[in-house]
Amino acid sequence: MTNAHYTHVLTPTRIGNVEIKNRVVRPGHATALPRMGDVTEELIAYHEARAKGGVGLTIIEIMGIHPCGPGPLLAFNPALEESYPRMMERLHRPGMKVFQQLWHPGHVGMPLDGSPPWSASDVPGLTATVAPIPMTKAMIDETIAAYATAARNLERWGGDGAEIHAAHGYLPAQFLSLNCNKRDDEYGGSLENRARFLIEVLEAVRASVSRDFAVGIRISPDGIAQGLEADDLLRVARMIEARGLADFFNVSLGNYQTLRRIVGGMHEPMGYELETSLPITRHLKTPTIVLGRFRTLEEADQLIRNGDCDLVGLNRATIADPDLVNKSIAGHAEQVRPCIGCNQGCVGHELRPSLGCVVNAGAGCENELGDHLLKPATERKRVLVIGGGPAGMEAARTAALRGHSVVLAEARSRLGGAVDLAAMAPTRAGMRDFTLWLEQEIYRLGVEVRLSTYMDADDVAAEGADVVILATGAVPRMDGIQASNPGEPITGMDQPHVVSSNGLFEGELRDLGKSAVVIDDAGHYEGVAAAEYLLSKGLDVTFVTRHISFAPRVEWSLMSEAALLRMDRGHFQQRLRSRGIAIKQGSVVIAPVYASPGSNVTEVIPADTVVFVSLNRPDRALFDELISRGMKAQVVGDCNSPRFLGFATRQGHIAGATV
Ligand code: ADP
Repeated sequence: MTNAHYTHVLTPTRIGNVEIKNRVVRPGHATALPRMGDVTEELIAYHEARAKGGVGLTIIEIMGIHPCGPGPLLAFNPALEESYPRMMERLHRPGMKVFQQLWHPGHVGMPLDGSPPWSASDVPGLTATVAPIPMTKAMIDETIAAYATAARNLERWGGDGAEIHAAHGYLPAQFLSLNCNKRDDEYGGSLENRARFLIEVLEAVRASVSRDFAVGIRISPDGIAQGLEADDLLRVARMIEARGLADFFNVSLGNYQTLRRIVGGMHEPMGYELETSLPITRHLKTPTIVLGRFRTLEEADQLIRNGDCDLVGLNRATIADPDLVNKSIAGHAEQVRPCIGCNQGCVGHELRPSLGCVVNAGAGCENELGDHLLKPATERKRVLVIGGGPAGMEAARTAALRGHSVVLAEARSRLGGAVDLAAMAPTRAGMRDFTLWLEQEIYRLGVEVRLSTYMDADDVAAEGADVVILATGAVPRMDGIQASNPGEPITGMDQPHVVSSNGLFEGELRDLGKSAVVIDDAGHYEGVAAAEYLLSKGLDVTFVTRHISFAPRVEWSLMSEAALLRMDRGHFQQRLRSRGIAIKQGSVVIAPVYASPGSNVTEVIPADTVVFVSLNRPDRALFDELISRGMKAQVVGDCNSPRFLGFATRQGHIAGATV
């Protein structure tokens, strides 16, 4: 198979005078890999892996240009004099071009010295704890000069271009938006006036660098009241284009009030941003970049062929697989590890304090883990993996990649494990893309897969493998214990209408009835999945949780609000800071978590079905039996410690990488 069908996305292009080998861009995104305003080896290694994987252009994450708006990278940090050129050298070597976001948060940031944030007016930002001060002309001039200095330095340090971050509600967008620009001077009022700050920034930046250094902007329609619509931004872009001030326009979506739209999760369709980006990009002559959960070169190719844009952002797709471009060029797009849009590792940072990836154990730690570091086995061992969920399949895959002889036994008639159940909830079917990919890879790599094969200790002994890896998953705990009130387990748990989320999705209940209560002790997506599934079956659902907010553990994966938006349609209610007290036939008695035992501050909620979601127990029965017989085994995934999917992948990967 050749790559002749990627006729557009692989065609080299120019942004300003910068030549780019293909149309695949990695737009700026927070990694939390920089430290103290400086580049780190982790940041370089992360981007270098994608440069080696064939990406044409990367835009490095936000660099604060002024002390009153600190960022992960700080333009005025003297350490960058040495580190930034070093990063450029490493990223340029494989042929990737590199732009840098220049950033000022305005009212969503806090100055380093404790003074108030600066903004167009004194409207508070969503994340700031104090009201900003409206910028004086002197502050405006100082800020513009700081952008220009930063751009000049970037060119000196070997960068190829700068992107002025005027999207996502940051300072330039605060000047543009009526909802936070209340000025009555030449920077407020008409759109022309509100665009003045951004235009002056671009003029200053343009004047501080040579023509070989690209200068562009990032903008985003936000869809909030008195905010920025696509047609406002098109007018602004035309003002900029008419003055020849930008070499590119990168069109994103959303701001802090609509964070969930900036990085749309698996509930958003591919191209979900196009509705608001194409009305801008289609009318500009300057090169444009769009994004929106795209995952393949094929999709990118079609967009460019349609004339929708000039370059396409593939961010999460290349976090999931750094080699996406090269694998596709080689005719093996089907081997690209798919992003499932869960946002847990890349956005939510649920796996580590910095960027990670649920499907790619090596993302954000390229010097420690990942397929590129797998060493061929020095001695070919017979490896027995038990359990065909993500942990078991990833262990089998990595062991097989290294040349071991691998058998994988799975009790059920199909692979996928817990992901198969999780994928049954509305909007979550995409989770299976990962396990289907793992399945396809382990067959491709020659793993001997034995389905419908329950292994007990005798079976394991009979197999006589050199290494045994247990990935047998977890079992729900149905003891009614809630962490807020552990001494008062819910009574009535052992009735037939009370199920775990596994039980619900496995269809344990023939008749769900008309109403349901989901009691969520865990706070992650499992409770959301159960509630939305029940709503989709036409039930009235009450969500009872001890947590102070709805699904807090997926808040930063930007899932909670999006789920509420889908579910808040008249049949859904929440009771936060609440616990179950007693389950009766047809109802659940609940109380606030802070009510003392025996208190009569209770509420009775109708419930034909009750789902209890708690922290699962590892299924260690087989492990304990093997150990008691003096055999050795390694446990990975939920069977080790049940938690987010990404941990299962990581542990499976490490097990396979170290056999
Ligand atoms: P993880 O997320 O850690 O991979 P899962 O719960 O997704 O865990 O997958 C565990 C898999 O192990 C399930 O598909 C289950 O059927 C399988 N399994 C559990 N015990 C055994 C056993 N003794 N023999 C074979 N397969 C098993």
